[in-house]
Amino acid sequence: MITHHRAFIARRRAKRPSEEYRELDAAEWEEFLAHFELRKVALGVCGRDYWTPCAHENACVRCPLLRVDPAQKPRLEEIHANLLDRLQEAREQGWLGELAAIETTLAAARQKLQAMAEAASHGTIVSLGMPDVRRNAGRNSAEHKD
Ligand code: SF4
Repeated sequence: MITHHRAFIARRRAKRPSEEYRELDAAEWEEFLAHFELRKVALGVCGRDYWTPCAHENACVRCPLLRVDPAQKPRLEEIHANLLDRLQEAREQGWLGELAAIETTLAAARQKLQAMAEAASHGTIVSLGMPDVRRNAGRNSAEHKD
């Protein structure tokens, strides 16, 4: 297995352009770090590929590439409530051209809030207590006596 793994790494390295095996200069490193600073958005972090522009016109609430920061949950809840108000207003005013767009954004906001709630519940530790070995052992002994 180790031999196969080493052969795999050697093949990968052979296919990689040799110019990639060099030290970065300071400007390149700074540019790389700055790129990640530019990924920070109000609701969290944008997960699009390195050196690619936003193809979604910064509609982050709708975007599957947004990784929502749990600390921004109140902001997302506020956006969700605002969208509900806008949806109601659009219905009342007969702005039918707005409805589909608001509903799409609302569904995306709801889905992100739900995902945050599920992620938070997975992080909850449920105490099951410690097994009492002596009590179980005693009960087993009693069962054997009967
Ligand atoms: S819309 Fe998507 S790709 Fe564009 S900045 Fe927001 S999260 Fe990134």
